[in-house]
Amino acid sequence: MTACAGILYVVPTPIGNLADMTPRAQQVLAEVDLIAAEDTRHSAKLLQHFAIKTPAVAYHEHNEREQTTRLVTKLQAGESIALISDAGTPLVSDPGYRLVHEARLAGVQVVPLPGACALIAALSASGLPSDRFIFEGFLPAKAAARRQSLQALQAESRTLIFYESTHRIKECIDDMLAVLGPEREVVLARELSKKFETIHGAPLADLAAWLAADDNQQRGEFVLLVRGAGVQEAGDVDTESERVLRLLMAELPLKQAAALAAQITGGKKNALYKHALALSDE
Ligand code: SAM
Repeated sequence: MTACAGILYVVPTPIGNLADMTPRAQQVLAEVDLIAAEDTRHSAKLLQHFAIKTPAVAYHEHNEREQTTRLVTKLQAGESIALISDAGTPLVSDPGYRLVHEARLAGVQVVPLPGACALIAALSASGLPSDRFIFEGFLPAKAAARRQSLQALQAESRTLIFYESTHRIKECIDDMLAVLGPEREVVLARELSKKFETIHGAPLADLAAWLAADDNQQRGEFVLLVRGAGVQEAGDVDTESERVLRLLMAELPLKQAAALAAQITGGKKNALYKHALALSDE
């Protein structure tokens, strides 16, 4: 028995490929007393596919207040509940925050199952720095608000991750081009784990032209990943940083020179150290 009394399980479901449903997710969904689903009709297909007969109730943004109270009462009475959304990990641009928050406040144990999540899948294959990143969810639907949000993020040095739908992908890339400039690298991850999966990275000017030239690339579901401001390719050192590094290398051991150069220029210590090694070999 995997599912235990009085526990709220947060269960990810596939984002396109049913084979990504983990055995543990199947077992928990089959064993809990109740499934709280974002859309019961949508999830019925998934549950049917895996022959899961557990009863399901709707838990979505329009009923979450009342439903949270009901579900927490059931959990406190010893029922086990699994929370699922239409696709991917619940709470990630999906309903569930209120339920998890209230359940924990009420002392209910919450158990998360690891599984499909579009932003993590996209990041893992993007080739962009993954040591520090921020997830911004969906940008505003209206152009003025969208540009304002992008302006506020213009100087962010961490990798930026956004969700976008087929309706706005072109406008969104055009606004990124206008606000972040033609050179900023963006990776577009489309239809992950599905038949037409595409992961394409390019400077914004090229990406906008590529997208405009092919309507097919504007269809489906998207994750957009933006290289952080001022973050260079791994191992890449600009001429000013190299000048500083050379000056320091004349006076200090390599490691110290690289560390100090990183502090002065804001560059990456590792990249500067690698570069210092290369320069010392010259
Ligand atoms: N909870 C989900 C997760 O864990 O990724 C996200 C739900 S959110 C309502 C839906 C958005 O996620 C889509 O508009 C798209 O931006 C992104 N998304 C979901 N599935 C995707 C896929 N297969 N490929 C690319 N993006 C996807």
